[in-house]
Amino acid sequence: MEDLYTPFRESFGLMPSGTGLVIYLVLAPFFSVFLYGIYLRLKTYGGMNAIRSLFNPRLINFSSLIKNVLLQVKLLWDRKSGIMHIMIMYGIFVLFLGTILIFIDDNILSLFKIKLLIGNYYLLYEFLLDFFGLLLIVGLIIAIKRRVGRSRLKRLRMKKEHLAILYILIFICLTGFIIEGFRLYLTSVHWSRYSFIGYLISEVVKTTIVEKTIIIVAYQSIWWIHALAAFSLLAVAPFTNILHTVLGALNASYMSIREPVLYIPATPFRLTEILDKIDIEIKVGFKKLVDLAPLQRLAIDACTDCGRCEEACPATASGTPLSPRNLVQKLRSVQQHLSSISEDLFNVGILNLEEIYACTTCGACFDSCPVMINPLEYILEARRAIASEGKLDRHVTRILSNLARTQNPYGLPRSYKEAAIKELKAIGAKTIDEYPEAEYIYWLGCMALCDERIRKVAKSLIKVMIKCGVSFAIIGPGENCTGDPARRIGEEGRFQELAYQNIGLLNKFSDRKILTHCPHCYNIFKNEYKDLGLSLKVIHHTELLNMLVNSGKLRLRNFVKLTLHDSCYLSRFNSIIKEPRMALRDAKLIDMKRHGRETFCCGGGGGNFWFEIKRIKKESIFRIEEAATTGAEVLVVECPFCLLMLEDAAKMVGLNKMQVLDIAEVFDLE
Ligand code: SF4
Ligand code: SF4
Repeated sequence: MEDLYTPFRESFGLMPSGTGLVIYLVLAPFFSVFLYGIYLRLKTYGGMNAIRSLFNPRLINFSSLIKNVLLQVKLLWDRKSGIMHIMIMYGIFVLFLGTILIFIDDNILSLFKIKLLIGNYYLLYEFLLDFFGLLLIVGLIIAIKRRVGRSRLKRLRMKKEHLAILYILIFICLTGFIIEGFRLYLTSVHWSRYSFIGYLISEVVKTTIVEKTIIIVAYQSIWWIHALAAFSLLAVAPFTNILHTVLGALNASYMSIREPVLYIPATPFRLTEILDKIDIEIKVGFKKLVDLAPLQRLAIDACTDCGRCEEACPATASGTPLSPRNLVQKLRSVQQHLSSISEDLFNVGILNLEEIYACTTCGACFDSCPVMINPLEYILEARRAIASEGKLDRHVTRILSNLARTQNPYGLPRSYKEAAIKELKAIGAKTIDEYPEAEYIYWLGCMALCDERIRKVAKSLIKVMIKCGVSFAIIGPGENCTGDPARRIGEEGRFQELAYQNIGLLNKFSDRKILTHCPHCYNIFKNEYKDLGLSLKVIHHTELLNMLVNSGKLRLRNFVKLTLHDSCYLSRFNSIIKEPRMALRDAKLIDMKRHGRETFCCGGGGGNFWFEIKRIKKESIFRIEEAATTGAEVLVVECPFCLLMLEDAAKMVGLNKMQVLDIAEVFDLE
C-alpha cells in the first residue's frame, strides 16, 4: 500500500524487531499502577456513587464545559495565565491524542488493513504534533518562570512536585523532538519539512560528523528514555497534581449544576416534611470527608493550589486564619489517605471554628477559581455540622437566640419595631393592611427596623418612591428576619422556621413584587426561598431607581464625584452591576479598581457583622482606602451592611471628607 512517495511512518521502523511487543510489556506495570491509582481515587470519592455521578450525562453542564474547559474563559480573566494554560492544556491534549491515534492505527486499524496516518493526513498529523509540542514547551517554560526566579508570581507556591512535573513534561517533549529529528535524518524522507522542529534538528545533525550507526544507537536509547519518562508520568498521575488536568475539567463541567444555587449548599431537609416524624435522624453538614457528596470530594482533588481564591479572599487579606486555598489544600491532603476520610476534621485539628466563621460568604473564592471549586460550599457545610452539634461560639449563639426570641438578630422587642414603623408612616408610608392594592411590598429588613442609620435609608427610599408615584406598602411590625444570618451561620432549622413564616405571609400577595434595599434579603428571597415555596418576584431598590430614572420620573441633579461599592450579594451572586451605574449615569462615577463581580467585600457578610473574629486590618478599611484613591466625594453603597461597615471604617481612618451614602440617599439629596 505504501510507496516511497506516500508520506507515512512505520512506528517501530528504526527500533530492533520485537520492540512493538516489548513496549507493551514494559507499559503494563506502569499502566497497572495508573489504574490502581484511579481505583483508589474513585474509592475515595465514594466508589460506585462517584462512578454513577460521573457517568450521569444529566449532571453535565455543557455550557460550562464549552466555556470553562474548552475555551478556558475563566482562566482568561487573567490573560497571561490563560494563554499559558491554553498552550499547556491543548499541547498535552494534542500530543496525547496523537499517541492514541498511533496506537489505534498500528494495533487496531491495521487488523482491518486500514491506515489512517498516511498521505496528507499524516502530514497534517506531523505538522500539528510539532506545532502543539512547541506550544507546550513554551507554555511549560512560562509556567516554570512564574514559579521560580525574580519574576515569580507571589500567589504561586514553589512546590517541588509541581516543578518536577513541569520539568519532566519539558523533558518528554524535548526527547520526543530529538528522536523525531534523528528519525528524519536517518530516513531522509522527502516530507520531513512538515515535522518542522524535527526537520531543524535533522539539519543540525547533518552538519555533524557523527556516524550513522551512533545516531541509530542514540535514537534507540533516547526512544526508550522518552517512553519510560512518559510511562512514569502516567503511573504517578493519579497520585500527584497531574490529576488536576482531568479533575479540573470534570469539576468545571459538573459543578455548575451540582446545586441549584452555587453560593449556598443544597437545602439539607425541609422542616415541613420532618416536623411530624419523631424518630428521624438527619445528618447535616460536613466534618468528615465522607460526609460530602462524591462530586464535592472530587472537586477537592481538582485544586491546583494556584492561590487565586486566596488572593481574592477578604478574610485572608484581613489577617484571619482563613485562607480558602489552604482550606481546600488541607482537605486535599487528608483525602490522599483513604483511611483518613472518616476522621472528624475538627477533632484532628485540620479545621477550626475561627477559620470557618471568619468567612464573609462573599463568594470571591468560587468566582476566581479557574476549575470552579467552591471553598464557600465546604465552609457552609462545616458551619451546618457545627451548628447541628451545638458547638457554636457564644457570640454566634447569641444571634441565634435573638432570632428565636425576637425574630430579629438585634434581639430588640416588637415595641421597638412598632416605633420604627410609626416613624416611617409619619413620612407617608402605608402598611399593606392600609393599602392592600400596593404593587410593591417594601420589605424593610431588620436593619431598617432596628438601626437608626439604616432607617434613614428606608426614609430616603420612601420619599423618592412617594415623589415618583410608586405604589408600595410596608408589612409593619409583623415583619420578621428573613433568616439569612441563621442560614449563613449554619442553623438551617432556625432559618427555615423564619422562612416558612415569611413565605406564609408573603404568598398571600403572590401577584405583587417584593422590593428590598438589602442585597441579603434580595438574594435569599430570589434564590433560596423559591426552593421552599415563595412565589413572589423580588426587586432590589437599585433596579427600581434605575427604572425610575429610565422613565424620566427621577433625575440626579447633584453632580458630585461618586464611587460605587458593589455589594457581593448583588454583583457577584445576582449580576446586578449595571443597574446602579445606569441609575447614577448623570453623576461623575469613578469606579474603584475592584468593582462589579470583582468587588471586595466590606467584611460584614456571613454573620461577621454580628460577631467579631480577630482581624489584623478590617476588610472595610482596605475598601475605604481603595475608595479614597478615586478622589470621590461620596462612596455610594447599595447594602445596609456595607453602609455601616464602611461608614465605621471611614471614621476609623479619619476620612472625614468622604461621605458614605446609600444609593437611595443620593437621590434624596436634592
Ligand atoms: S466566601 Fe469570601 S470570605 Fe469566604 S472563603 Fe471565599 S473569598 Fe474568603
Ligand atoms: S481552590 Fe481553585 S482558586 Fe483556590 S487554589 Fe485551588 S484551584 Fe486555585
